[in-house]
Order: sequence, then structure tokens, then C-alpha cells
Amino acid sequence: MRIRIDVDLEKGAILRTDLPENAIWLGGRALAESLLFEEVPPACHPLGPRNLLVFAPGLFAGTSMPTASRMSVAAKSPLTGGIKESNVGGMAGMILAQLGVGAVVIRGISLSRRSNLVLLGKRSAEVMDAPELSGLGNYETVETLKKRFGEDVVTITIGPCGEMKMAAATIAVSDNNGRPCRHAGRGGLGGVMGSKGLKAIVIDPKGSQLRKGADPGAFAEAIKEYTKILQSSKRTAFWRENGTAGLVDVSHARGSLPTRNFTSGAYDKKDKVNAEQLKTLAAQRKGMMGHACMRGCVVRCSNVFNDPQGRYLTSGLEYETIAMMGPNLDIDDLDTIAQMDHRCDDYGIDTIETGATLGILTETDLFRFGDGLKAVQLIDEIGKGTVLGRVLGQGVTTTGKVFGISRIPAVKGQSLAAHEARSIKGLGVTYATSPQGADHTAGFVVEEPLSKEGHADRSRKAQINVVVADSLGLCQFTGLREEHELFARLMGPLTGKAPSPEEVRRMGQETLWKERTFNQVAGIGSGQDRLPEFMRSEALPPNNNVFDVEEEDLDRVFGDYPK
Ligand code: SF4
Repeated sequence: MRIRIDVDLEKGAILRTDLPENAIWLGGRALAESLLFEEVPPACHPLGPRNLLVFAPGLFAGTSMPTASRMSVAAKSPLTGGIKESNVGGMAGMILAQLGVGAVVIRGISLSRRSNLVLLGKRSAEVMDAPELSGLGNYETVETLKKRFGEDVVTITIGPCGEMKMAAATIAVSDNNGRPCRHAGRGGLGGVMGSKGLKAIVIDPKGSQLRKGADPGAFAEAIKEYTKILQSSKRTAFWRENGTAGLVDVSHARGSLPTRNFTSGAYDKKDKVNAEQLKTLAAQRKGMMGHACMRGCVVRCSNVFNDPQGRYLTSGLEYETIAMMGPNLDIDDLDTIAQMDHRCDDYGIDTIETGATLGILTETDLFRFGDGLKAVQLIDEIGKGTVLGRVLGQGVTTTGKVFGISRIPAVKGQSLAAHEARSIKGLGVTYATSPQGADHTAGFVVEEPLSKEGHADRSRKAQINVVVADSLGLCQFTGLREEHELFARLMGPLTGKAPSPEEVRRMGQETLWKERTFNQVAGIGSGQDRLPEFMRSEALPPNNNVFDVEEEDLDRVFGDYPK
């Protein structure tokens, strides 16, 4: 039986209860969003006491299934004003699950309003004062926590941006090497954690045990089949060799690489920031490709990036960050991009949102394309909380309002990710209609990328499949989405009750329905299922396409939902 831990920061009280029987197949996103749907008033203020912050390991987390221990972090978002799930790797999902925890629910606001931390162990949980952590970056916070609680703790922390309750603030999770470089990046959930006065959750792994399932023999057999599929996949080999940076060349060739504030889909200097360049620098500086963000991952898409002196600078220098801070700002230097990434990780701010925000600043005198030094300085302003920095830390939509900019690459308040919707129109449909705001992980549709037809059904299906993967704890780089029969064969021996493949699919569908219903009550209706206007009028080189999917088709994605 998995347990739920409720932490009430206002009362300083902690309650441990069993998850109910009807949650037997629910983990990750399905579980977290169900808790929000049932317990959070959709109209509440995201930074107020009635919002909850939920951490839920995926259903397969903590088992010996490789690449399947991701965790969902969820709350009402200060960025979109709607429900939000942000999915994160690192070690927290695995170890929480191995301690028997299905969900951690943070409620209330600390009355002292000082920095607090929560220490979670096998049978204990405690709220503690932590004034010494106030204002520290994520890296120093984690070093301080290790000195206090031991080198082997797993951490969930926020940096100063979260403490300042910024709408683009992230929550950092320590990786396989204990570094706070895996982030629940989207939707400003770090601001929600900061609003509660919670600086850190420290997880003591003592007593954690591998989850072997209700029928260990049958579960081990099903895991063998799953692992064989992963290991023999060409995609696995591609991610391991190139990391997600391999997408720089793919996106450039497809015309979907956001360049110079979403004015082109191809970047003439892409060879300076692509996977080949990353691999060359990794070899020269004793960095690493094929790094695993969590123990046992067989895909290993992550990397370690060292500075020219061979010292650690950042980890997980990912495609989204490279594209949004490189080509999108015309910064053609991986060292500068890595510095920006390190600062964003340390301050705890979303690299995608920040890249889009600096991009629109090129319409002002504050920033010019290609000015890497200035980009680093502006990120420092965000981290230090200057007046300008506090504006930028609210994300691209608010920054646009402050500076009177109307060409904003965002949906429902959240910036587009690093895949141009005019060159991948199926993904554009997902950006427009996902309850999460513009999010490339919400349902990637690559079929017939330049056609305006046929994407409504594809996007709905992709969004349902992604919810299933997010709920099970599967990393999206497994490439497994539609294998509901395989998932059912794994869920049965793990939980002791086998679902049908249709029940697996329905879990995804019902979760999406809850997310959309929550948003409607929060004031986000189908009228906001639209891409920014400029994408319908500005043709994007090199394909010279606009986003021309009919609005009726966008409404059809969820119009007759659920079905
Ligand atoms: S594939 Fe990459 S993101 Fe996914 S679990 Fe492995 S290292 Fe982490």
C-alpha cells in the first residue's frame, strides 16, 4: 500500500494516510491532478493558502524498470492561472516511491514566513526552520543540506526566484550525482513552493526498498520485455549518443528551430550549437555525454558540460535550453548558453520561458540579438530580484504587457517551447489546446507537419498517451506512448489487479477531462485554445508557412470530449 503524506505548513502538522483503494493504478500526473481536482478551488489564488502543491512519483517509480521513475509536480499555476503538471527526472521520484510514498501534499502557508524545510524518512516526517537557506541558490542550498543531513540525501529545492514567488520559477530535483539540475521547469511551480514558505524537501533514503510488486515473478518477466524494447530501439541509441541536442540539426532541417524571436525556423550558425559541437567540447574538457539523470536509466540522454578549464558548469544542457537561449537569441556560443543555463538552474527559473522573454525584449532597447554578455546580466537581474528582473521573472506574457509588446509567443500565459508550430502544425494544435499551456511534452504530433488537415484527432490521441506515460513515471525518451497493452501487463503484477488496455487509456482521458474542467471553472475556456495571432499572419522561413489549422479543428480536439 502506498501512502500519502500531507504537510500543513500553517499548523506545522504532518499526516500520513494510505492512498485509497480506487487509486490503485494512479500515480504521477493522474494522481496529482485528481488530488488538485478534488481538493483545490479552481478560482483560488495560485500563491494563496488554498492552493496545494503535490509531488507524485509515477506508478512504476522505484521498481527495477529503467527510465521509469519520473515524478509529477502539480498545483494551480501562477503563470497560466490553470491546473499545472510539471514532470521531472532526477532521484526524488524513485526514492520517494521506494519509501512507500505515493504522494506528498503541501498545504497552507507557513505563519513565520521564514524558510522552512521538510525532512522525510522511512517512518518520519518533520517540518523544520531553515533560516540559513534563505536567499541561497539551488547549488549552495543543496550543499548546505548535505552538510546538515548527510551526503546521500535526495533534495527538492527552490532558488531565490521561487522565494520571490516568480511566475516562471522552477523546482529543482537532485540528479544521480546529487546536483540540483533536474527541474520541474514549467508553469511557475517554484513560485507556489515559495509562497508556502517552503525552501526544501529533504528525503532520507535510509530504509528505501526496491518495489518488486504484488507478483514479483510475473512483474520481473514483464520488465524484461519492456527493457528489451528500450535497449533495441534506434531512438535510444540516438539519444544516448547525441543527447537532446541532437534535435538542433533535426529542427533546423525541418524549419522548426525557433530563431531570432520566432522569425525563422532555421539558424545559419546552428553548427556552433549543435550536438557535434557539444560532443567535441565534452571530449576536450572531460565532460560527459550519455549521462543518466536517474539511477538505472538505459537511455541516458543527459550530459555534463564543463567550462574551458574542465570544471563542472552545468548538467542537462538540453535542446530546449540551447534553442531558446541560442538560436532564438542569436547567441552562437555553447559556453555562453551553458552559463545562462547554470544561472537559471541556480536561481531556479525556467530556461524556456526566459529564452522567450529575452527574445521579445529585442523589441526594446534593453537587449539586442547576439549579445551574450547582456543576456547573462539580465538573468542575473532576475536572480537578484531587481525591479526589471522581477518583471522578466514573471515570464513572456507579463513582460510583453509591461513593455507594450503585442507579438508574444505564448498560449494561456506560457511561452511556446523550442519547436515552431508553423512548421509542425500538429504540435501547434497541441500547444493551442493543451490544458497545460504551450508545452512540447503535452503531445508531440509530427505527422504531415506542413498540412493543415487531420491534426485534431492526432493531437487528442497524443495528449491522452502522454498523460498515461506521465502517470506511469515513464520518461518520454523511452518513446513508448501507445503501448497500453504492455503497460497493462506491467501494471497487473505490480499492483495485484490487472487493468485492460482500454482502462489504461481511459486513465489518460479522464485526467485530461479533469484538467480541462478545472481550467474552465478557473476562467480558462476553449476561447483560449489558440496560438498567438502573429503565427497566422507571418510566414515563417524557410518553409514560408503560416499556422492555418482551422479554428473549428482546434475546437474539435476536445469539443465532444470525453469520448
Ligand atoms: S532519458 Fe534522459 S531525461 Fe529520461 S530519465 Fe534518462 S537521463 Fe533522464
